[in-house]
Amino acid sequence: MKISILTLFPEMFSPLKTSIIGRAVDSGKLQIQIVDIRDYTLDKHKKCDDTPFGGGAGMVMMAQPIADAIKAVDGEHTAKRIYLSPKGRTFNQSVVTEYSKLGDILLLCGHYEGVDQRVLDLYIDEELSLGDFVLTGGEIPAMAVVDAVARYVDGVINGDSLSQESFASGTLEYPHYTRPQEFEGLKVPQVLLSGNHAKIDEWRAQKSLEITKKNRPDLLAKEDE
Ligand code: SAM
Repeated sequence: MKISILTLFPEMFSPLKTSIIGRAVDSGKLQIQIVDIRDYTLDKHKKCDDTPFGGGAGMVMMAQPIADAIKAVDGEHTAKRIYLSPKGRTFNQSVVTEYSKLGDILLLCGHYEGVDQRVLDLYIDEELSLGDFVLTGGEIPAMAVVDAVARYVDGVINGDSLSQESFASGTLEYPHYTRPQEFEGLKVPQVLLSGNHAKIDEWRAQKSLEITKKNRPDLLAKEDE
C-alpha cells in the first residue's frame, strides 16, 4: 500500500520513521510519500497561502500549489483523496478497515484557516476528521490515519493481535498484565496464572464487557440496533 501525504510541513513526519511503521516502510510492506506542497507553488517567493476573500482572521492555503501537487503525485492506483478536516466524517475503526482495503490513498493536510474550497470541490473525494476539536494542522491527524491503517497492511502486525483488540468485535479489550506478579501491592488476577485457557477466555470476555459498559456503553447499544 502507498500513502501519499501532501503538507506544508514535511519535517513533522519524522515519527513515521520509527517503531512498527518505520519497520513496515523499511521492509517495503508500506510506502509513505511525503510531498512538500511548497515545491509546487508558482509564486516566486514560494508563497502558498493568502488572506481570505470576504475578510476575517487567518490565512487560507492557495488552490494552485495544492492542485499541482495532487496532479504530480496522484498515480493511477490512488483510490481515494482525503482532506483532513474538522468538518469531515469522524475517523474510527470502520474507516480504518475501509481504507486498508483501498490500495493507495492520498492525504491532504491543511494548515492556518484551511484550504481554498475549490481544491476540495475539484480534487478531494472525502473530508475526514480526527474528532470534534480543532488542531493547528492536518499533519497529526494524517499520522494517526497512517498508523491505524498501516496496522492492517499484510504482515505489519500479527493477525491475532488485530482480531482480539478493542473495536474488533464491537467491544473494548480486556486488561493486560505482565511480570512481576505483584506490583505495589496489586496482584495479577489468579485466573491468568492458572493455565486454564477456557477460564482465561471467559474472564477476558467478562472484563471486556464490563469495561465497555463502563467506558463506552454506546458501543453495546450499537450492537443491539
Ligand atoms: N478553520 C477551520 C474550521 O474552523 O473548521 C479549522 C482549520 S485548522 C486550524 C487547520 C487545519 O488543521 C485544517 O485545515 C485541517 O487540515 C486540520 N485539522 C484541524 N482539526 C482537525 C481535525 N479535528 N481533524 C482533522 N484535521 C484537522
